[in-house]
Amino acid sequence: MGDIIYLDNAATTPVDDGVLEAMLPFLKDKFGSASTLYSIGREAREAVEVARENVAALIGAKPEEVYFTSGGTESDNWAIFGVASAKANKGKHIITSKIEHHAVLESCHALEKQGYSVTYLGVDENGFVDVDELKSAITDQTILVTIMHANNEIGTIEPVEEIGKLCREKGIHFHSDTVQTIGHIPVDVDAMNIDSLAISAHKLYGPKGIGAMYIRKGARVERFMRGGGQENNKRAGTHNVPGIVGLGKAAELAKVRMPEESEHTLKLRGMLIEGIESRIKDVKLNGDRVKRIPNNTNFSFTGVEGESMILLMDMNGICVSSGSACTSGSLDPSHVLMALGMKHEQAHGSLRMTLGKENTEAQIAKVLDTLPGIVQRLREMSPIYMTGAECERE
Ligand code: PLP
Repeated sequence: MGDIIYLDNAATTPVDDGVLEAMLPFLKDKFGSASTLYSIGREAREAVEVARENVAALIGAKPEEVYFTSGGTESDNWAIFGVASAKANKGKHIITSKIEHHAVLESCHALEKQGYSVTYLGVDENGFVDVDELKSAITDQTILVTIMHANNEIGTIEPVEEIGKLCREKGIHFHSDTVQTIGHIPVDVDAMNIDSLAISAHKLYGPKGIGAMYIRKGARVERFMRGGGQENNKRAGTHNVPGIVGLGKAAELAKVRMPEESEHTLKLRGMLIEGIESRIKDVKLNGDRVKRIPNNTNFSFTGVEGESMILLMDMNGICVSSGSACTSGSLDPSHVLMALGMKHEQAHGSLRMTLGKENTEAQIAKVLDTLPGIVQRLREMSPIYMTGAECERE
């Protein structure tokens, strides 16, 4: 990565050298399809099964409960449409939260158009779903609860154990989008009473375009991709063998490295939060201070646009992201920050910096030397900061 300081690890992570090394043979000599009977096909099949064991071991599942998909988006879509379709005769009510990833929200919106009803739970100012509110939202028509493990923008960790326990008692399928937590903090499908979850390899130093879905044995989830009989007739399509091998290796490495890595990112996170709060005024840390994933920071700077900060940080060789929905080409502020009860201007002035194993203390020191000047420069040009907001602050 040269001199670049990459602080957008929640968006995607660089592929680990060990992962790349494990994948390369399957892009070259061992290119056979995992569904064939000759030796290079059998080798591919064996590698796919080793990867399945490694993914299962990372989440406390059985290998036969892991299905390879194209990533987190597909796994979330599969879980939601798959449960909705398998259980339509039981009921047509789904419960989720307002701060889920678009992979979940858009799937729920699509189901509403098909006659399902969806409850979108609000969250408190730190981003927590209220379990009692969830409990009251359950009806005899509820077939699915889908609540993320940790939020991708603000890092808040939801009370999934409690939610899972409640769903288990009521016989409701519990899906969790664990894309931001797998490989970073412990996830155990039994301890958390999870019936299905979504995994994305590129968030844990694996390749892009590959992921997995865990489906508890016996859970009713309709197949998603139709075609060949791959993945036990549940997810058709020729296996992405190099990708699957990469995900498997990333899972194997994450299981061993997780404690050390989270200690490392926690330390850097502490430096970043403390440094920003002591050097910049009118700043707010978004998300919970304690129950948050180790690699996440998200701040709002009064009177400053997130996009402008991203561009100026980039000019200094620092990659960060903002809560604004720039990916969708819209200028709407992030639905997550708005759900916390923030004003438009505040949500527009947010900056997410997410850490990874390759970041160093020297890099954080450089960020802390650079960011205050950028915020000050932008505030000097900001009519909101210089006038209205200033009055409001006083
Ligand atoms: N869910 C969450 C919480 C995410 O952060 C992401 C990726 O940004 C996804 C789902 C989608 O994953 P993928 O990029 O593998 O489709």
